[in-house]
Amino acid sequence: MELCGLTVHELKDKLKKREISAADILDSCLQRTHQVEEQVKAFITITEETARETARVLDEKGEYPGLAGIVCGLKDNLCTRGVRTTCASRMLEDFVPGYDATVVKKLKAQQAVILGKLNMDEFAMGSSTEYSSFYPTRNPWDLKRVPGGSSGGAAAAVAAGQVIYALGTDTGGSVRQPAAFCGVVGMKPTYGRVSRSGVVGFASSLDQVGTITRDVTDCALVLNQIAGYDHMDSTSANLEVLDYTSSLVPEIKGFKVGVLQEYFQEGIHPGVKETIKRALLKMEEMGAIVEEISLPHIKYALPTYYIIAPAEASSNLARFDGVRYGLRDLEADNVEEMYINSRSLGFGPEVKRRIMLGTYVLSAGYFDAYYLKALKVRRLIKNDFDRAFEKYDVLVTPTVPTAAFKLQEHARDEDLLAMYRSDIATVPANMAGLPAISVPGGFVDEMPVGLQIIGKAFAEDTILRVAYAFEQHTDYTARKPSLGVK
Ligand code: GLN
Repeated sequence: MELCGLTVHELKDKLKKREISAADILDSCLQRTHQVEEQVKAFITITEETARETARVLDEKGEYPGLAGIVCGLKDNLCTRGVRTTCASRMLEDFVPGYDATVVKKLKAQQAVILGKLNMDEFAMGSSTEYSSFYPTRNPWDLKRVPGGSSGGAAAAVAAGQVIYALGTDTGGSVRQPAAFCGVVGMKPTYGRVSRSGVVGFASSLDQVGTITRDVTDCALVLNQIAGYDHMDSTSANLEVLDYTSSLVPEIKGFKVGVLQEYFQEGIHPGVKETIKRALLKMEEMGAIVEEISLPHIKYALPTYYIIAPAEASSNLARFDGVRYGLRDLEADNVEEMYINSRSLGFGPEVKRRIMLGTYVLSAGYFDAYYLKALKVRRLIKNDFDRAFEKYDVLVTPTVPTAAFKLQEHARDEDLLAMYRSDIATVPANMAGLPAISVPGGFVDEMPVGLQIIGKAFAEDTILRVAYAFEQHTDYTARKPSLGVK
């Protein structure tokens, strides 16, 4: 296999033995990108020159600690100093941040080779990357299908072999859902585990940076480097960060696994249901105690999310006024017209929908009825989880009720709810601030299906262990997409 198809740990091993150089890895990823990018469209900006420079400096020294020399990509809502950060929006098409997000700083300190900025739904609102204002990304398993979203460029680039791993963000499922659709591993850590400083805010009480990797070992390796307290983020948790590779134990005998029944009822594709049931049997074979469980308020998670997320988005996006950042209508006659025109031109339809919905639920007459009520329901959902974790080590669901859908299948105005429903199983972990991981759980009609494992707050180690054990007892990660590296 070519270098661009290997994992972080395989490449680290080769670097250590001096079988390869950082430039070799980069060359392989660039060559791959030249072959497939026209079809996949994973990138918004490719930073080939700085990537080459980083690799060159590293190879001169000849030392490769941590993530040094491994090629990665960043979702385009993570601020990068001197490199435009668009959020896939016309509003920020020419926005070049003067600073790096904390996670980017951490990767740079490691001498990670950053190949560029990856496509996404505009401002991370969406589940297919079709709401990018530039172009949609395509699924490397089937170019007629979406890669999921909103971190669709990140998941597609990892699956297609363009980068070895990527960072995304997950507000309601945007790391896990595309990871599931593209057959890779996606982890959303506990709220507060990874700094949000320098991440363009969507819904600040839900947003979290996550990892997209080819296997669970890589997930632990990358999480090790980005997790930890940051005084620049007031919601960052001041807790010790473990070495997550110590959770990579292929054994879960006696682990108690609760299966959330709500996600096996109507709306789930029969093939996905079967695939996940098979995965659960596998866990039982491995000695886990698998039981069905029901959480009384979880059915309200999605509707509640679509109150809270737009409310926070409308507030976060108020800063794009044509003055401080981004696009400005220079033709306007007065300031009010300038505001209106800049926002009308800069934002796409889904973002406008969210701003309107959010402004409505926060307005004086409706605040109590919608927003405050949603916050109360959110607490009930969190309480449900707390109770469940008194009994279970982890909870599992299908990551998404379906495999990747076709381009244009849900992106039509009359089918918006179908797009929203794609996150039905991922949203609850954000609502309760919990860590969750999606691992390849099987295939249906030749398309990958994700298995979601949710843990207690700050128990990333537990979900990594279950995910790793499952991965070691199956061979789903070995299968490659049609556009993947053979
Ligand atoms: N698809 C969900 C939404 O549109 C989640 C997005 C995300 O996690 N960023 O809001």
